Amino acid sequence: MITIKNLTVKAEGRKILDSINLEIKDREKVVLFGPNGCGKSTLFRVIMGMNEYKVAKGDVLVNGKSILSRSIDERVKLGLGYVAQKSVSIKGVTLEGLIDQYDLDYDKIKNIIDTLDIDSFLHRDINYNLSGGETKRLELFTLSLMDGIYTYLLDELDSGVDLENIGRISNYLKSISKDRSLVITTHTGAILQALKMDTAYVMLEGKIVCTRDPIETWECIKSGGYDNCVNCEKRKK
Ligand code: ADP
Ligand code: MG
Repeated sequence: MITIKNLTVKAEGRKILDSINLEIKDREKVVLFGPNGCGKSTLFRVIMGMNEYKVAKGDVLVNGKSILSRSIDERVKLGLGYVAQKSVSIKGVTLEGLIDQYDLDYDKIKNIIDTLDIDSFLHRDINYNLSGGETKRLELFTLSLMDGIYTYLLDELDSGVDLENIGRISNYLKSISKDRSLVITTHTGAILQALKMDTAYVMLEGKIVCTRDPIETWECIKSGGYDNCVNCEKRKK
């Protein structure tokens, strides 16, 4: 379980996350909505321990223990996995090469390769000149090679992904989701048709302002944009 407690984060002296309280239970499927620039990626990056941010207040705990002083490496070992909105490409390194080098059992992972339909670009440099949708599928595959990843933080998982590949991604996530938590951000909602989520949160200007049923929340955002959430917040005050 991940607990975000009263988390306030700054970058370049500006408050980006503001007193966030959030709990991601084991096996829970969470969708995080919010307009561009509200802080969704920052939240993921702080959970993973990217060091461009200053945690001004609050804590991030995994199974009740603070992880703020832990390295990215240690956080991965605690079960956290992350597919970034913008992926890093690694020239000169291929997944095919890694599979060989680490003597991974190809037969064991063949299933995943088929489900994600990535066979045709395993021999290419990692994420180098791949399309957005190819990159997301490759990143999911890379996470699958690591043992013990129980929480998947998936940033804009369906951005730039065509419908057929959204189907592949959701099939794969369904196949692993029984004993995993997923936290997904989406601007298209496409993944919500295929993957049943448990909880939705809405973030505005670094604050969590709402938690509701995922489909209801998405319908509300679709019908009037985030203005609906802003107006709803005003009514609450
Ligand atoms: P979202 O993912 O919701 O679109 P981000 O978390 O990427 O939003 O960004 C939230 C805000 O914080 C934006 O205004 C962005 O420009 C700013 N920001 C993000 N990372 C940094 C950083 N390392 N330094 C300065 N500002 C940042
Ligand atoms: Mg983002």
